[in-house]
Amino acid sequence: MTNLRTDYCGELRTADIDRTVSVCGWVDRRREHGEHLAFIDLRDHTGVIQCVVDEKHDLRSEYVVRITGSVRPRLEGTVNTSLATGEIEVGDCEVEVLSVSEPPPFPLHDRVDVDENIRLRYRYVDLRRAKMQRGLRLRAKVNRAVRLAMDRQGFVEIETPMLVASTPEGARDFVVPSRLNPGSFYALPQSPQLFKQLCMVGGVDRYYQIARCLRDEDLRADRQFEFMQLDAEMSFVGQDEVFACIGEAVKDAVEAATGERPGPIATMTWLDAQERYGSDKPDVRFGMELTELTDAFAHTESKVFTVPCIKGINLEGGADSLGRNAIDELTDKCKRWGAKGLAWFRVRAGGNGAVALEGALTKFMSDAEQAAVVDRLGCADGDLALIIADTRRTANHVLGLLRLELGRPPVNEGGLNFLWITEFPLFEALDEAGSPIPAHHPFTMPHPDDVHLLDEGGNALLDVRSLAYDLVLNGWELGSGSVRIHRGDIQSRVFGLLGIGPEEAEAKFGFLLDAFRYGAPPHAGFAVGLDRLVALLAGEENIREVIAFPKTQSGGDPLTNAPSPIDDRHLEELGLRVLPPAT
Ligand code: ASP
Repeated sequence: MTNLRTDYCGELRTADIDRTVSVCGWVDRRREHGEHLAFIDLRDHTGVIQCVVDEKHDLRSEYVVRITGSVRPRLEGTVNTSLATGEIEVGDCEVEVLSVSEPPPFPLHDRVDVDENIRLRYRYVDLRRAKMQRGLRLRAKVNRAVRLAMDRQGFVEIETPMLVASTPEGARDFVVPSRLNPGSFYALPQSPQLFKQLCMVGGVDRYYQIARCLRDEDLRADRQFEFMQLDAEMSFVGQDEVFACIGEAVKDAVEAATGERPGPIATMTWLDAQERYGSDKPDVRFGMELTELTDAFAHTESKVFTVPCIKGINLEGGADSLGRNAIDELTDKCKRWGAKGLAWFRVRAGGNGAVALEGALTKFMSDAEQAAVVDRLGCADGDLALIIADTRRTANHVLGLLRLELGRPPVNEGGLNFLWITEFPLFEALDEAGSPIPAHHPFTMPHPDDVHLLDEGGNALLDVRSLAYDLVLNGWELGSGSVRIHRGDIQSRVFGLLGIGPEEAEAKFGFLLDAFRYGAPPHAGFAVGLDRLVALLAGEENIREVIAFPKTQSGGDPLTNAPSPIDDRHLEELGLRVLPPAT
């Protein structure tokens, strides 16, 4: 069969007038036009073109047709300026129906309001929508840009296996039974972490891969079981070189997608991010920074303010925009987030022009304390001062959430604000037995200035910083990485602290520890979550909008019906027996 078309629907223009063209696509819309004619909007991935066809062709929505005719100007009064092809149409049409269609399960317009399960069940129809096509093509552009950038910077693309032993990213593994070794299982990779480190030992120097990662986690709105990362590792470098190379790839991706190149990416320590924004992934598209007030209450006589930490934020205009009910709701939220309560004050100008706080708690505050709140929060007439008095951790955490609740712009506003967050703590918390829980995977290098704290144990461990870092975009964690431990002695100490004894370490990561005995270069790396990056570039909150065939939030695929049972013979071959569900 020769090529059926001469042109794409959405690319015809007035310059094509008088040409005879063949266009192919799906019937988007059909309108009657006089006695024996109909207007057909024919759609392909480039857009739609109006064709005037004889009514005897019974063309229905989503029929696949080939139309041959001549391009001509539209009649006056029928020009559609909101459409790229709106000045022309194809007339004198010959129509060939290539394929018929049942009525589509939902209308294919961009503002379609259909249950997502239905869209996923008929994803092939959903993908025909212009918005979905834009997302897929944007994604391809991003992939291409990062590949070119990594290649240009000397990174080698290496594919790592999908059937592996467990990888320590802290999630549950998906497992695959081995038919040839009944009772044994492969894990699907949570990330290529261990293989990319082995590549460094193998002298690769700079590795990258657009890698599929699989984690059996409870799905939240912004997660999928399988997701894509730009995964990279480099030898003989520290974090600055990682930032430079990954930054370059990310900027290239943004430029390819939007035409604009982001400026330099700022760096902030984890501690600063907590103190200023109450978050390890601060959204710096807006201010409302957390303000320190603890010292201003050093001489307080009130129990309310006799706490380790007092901090606040100022909501401009909040005294008028938030009524009592809204403030009560905020207070409830703060309690749910872990605070004992929320101290709030409307800010009003007095007769003398000076502003003062109004609120139930002012009676527990001296004039100097009230003045300090106004002054430090920069309060003006009509503002709302919001204060949390608690432990430092709780005050930061709750104010951080409150700040987002009150100030966060919509996903597609405020530009793209990238930020590196450095010096993450090595450990997240201590478990009941007092053993530290790693904040990253166990190969993360402790900060050289804090290594001595490893010997102190106990709570001092929570102050140990690491050489782990994240890339944050508009309040989303876009990726993480670290400088790795490449020395056996430090690795054994960290394993020891994590309660991983030599035997367990040998069983789980013996192959990596072995490799490190044969000359491991210092190395560091990173992984960028591509689904999230593409979603943000497309102005989408939901990553499923930029994934061709995503799973639902309950982990199913309504299109193929995965996951599904397998037959008994197959189970037997694998040496498996399925237990009835626990009741
Ligand atoms: N493997 C890590 C992750 O998936 C990234 C890294 O440390 O390079 O989060």
